[in-house]
Amino acid sequence: MASLKLNNLCKVFKTDRKAEVTALAGINLEVPDGELMALVGPSGCGKSTLLRLIAGLDHPSNGSISLGNKEVNNIKPQDRDVAMVFQNYALFPHLTVEQNIIFSLKFRKIPKSEMQSRVDDAADLLGITDFLQRKPAELSGGQRQRVALGRAMVCKPKIFLLDEPLSNLDARMRAEMRAEIAKLHNRLRTTMIFVTHDQTEAMTLGQRICVINKGKVMQVGAPLDLYQRPVHKFVGDFIGTPGMNFIRGRLDVLDGSNVFIEDTKDGDGDSLHLPEIFSKAVAKFNGIKVLLGIRSEHLKLIEKGIGFKVTLDTVETLGHESLLHIRTAANKMIVRSSGNDQSNFNGKILEINWSNVIWFDYNSGLALI
Ligand code: ATP
Repeated sequence: MASLKLNNLCKVFKTDRKAEVTALAGINLEVPDGELMALVGPSGCGKSTLLRLIAGLDHPSNGSISLGNKEVNNIKPQDRDVAMVFQNYALFPHLTVEQNIIFSLKFRKIPKSEMQSRVDDAADLLGITDFLQRKPAELSGGQRQRVALGRAMVCKPKIFLLDEPLSNLDARMRAEMRAEIAKLHNRLRTTMIFVTHDQTEAMTLGQRICVINKGKVMQVGAPLDLYQRPVHKFVGDFIGTPGMNFIRGRLDVLDGSNVFIEDTKDGDGDSLHLPEIFSKAVAKFNGIKVLLGIRSEHLKLIEKGIGFKVTLDTVETLGHESLLHIRTAANKMIVRSSGNDQSNFNGKILEINWSNVIWFDYNSGLALI
């Protein structure tokens, strides 16, 4: 077991046409010993590159990688004590499950009896004992995934790297395997880094989540922290289904009272009186363009009252809840409503739960308060 520390890790690829692609632009990250960290971000943000650098399959252009306080930049992959589980499982088709699992131990100086007992323990833990003599083609996707995990486990690595391990499975199997990986981590307590582009997977599995965009760390924190207190608009939008709603406008003082004025194509839209708690913010950010960030469960459609006037576009009925797609003068939003209360759909005024609002700078996307 070991902690992981990445210091200003950079990777620039040179393409055939001599162009440069910056895949990682100075990643700083610490993963304590025994943590299960989810690494999440959109396609192309640098997740796989980061794992490959940690595993030693590629070299950083700059920066350092330390495992348990020891820099490993110049240590060969096989000597790093890191096991990687790939998206496509990477099993040998001509070998049985048992031979696939034992294969990773062949180049280590481990007595045969010890090898067999490691395979048996892993197979038992992962529930694949009955399949040990089958070939990978005779297994389901979930079973193959277990074999890939078994192959990593028998090496007793200091750290597991899982690169989108569930993306080839159907939704039900993904949920099952998610629970299995959590259970496995609970049993082994080994440091694990789990890469996914699926924020639900990251939220449900990661003890902490690291959100990456364009080769940079946007935020690291516990799942609820990221959901409730995103430090950047990107995180608010990326984490949560649906993502955070954003209303563009500015904070101002009108006739002695604090207001938020929606910004429309044709100038000022509706203005809303803000509660007293925002008076300091209004004084500080008066006049600058901001984004009002609000989760769909903190919005409500009401018949009468103070709020934005809205138009209801569509209703997505999910059974336990409904998602109301609405429009203000300049913004589209989603309001979450309890599934069986049709009366909630008819309101035309948008009520905002102000205590859950996050203000973002319109230009930088950074949270202001
Ligand atoms: P996905 O979720 O789609 O797998 P990712 O977040 O894992 O994406 P990477 O595969 O790490 O992203 O790629 C990061 C960036 O680096 C992308 O812009 C990609 O095109 C580029 N890249 C990756 N490998 C190379 C390479 N060998 N040569 C040139 N560019 C590369």
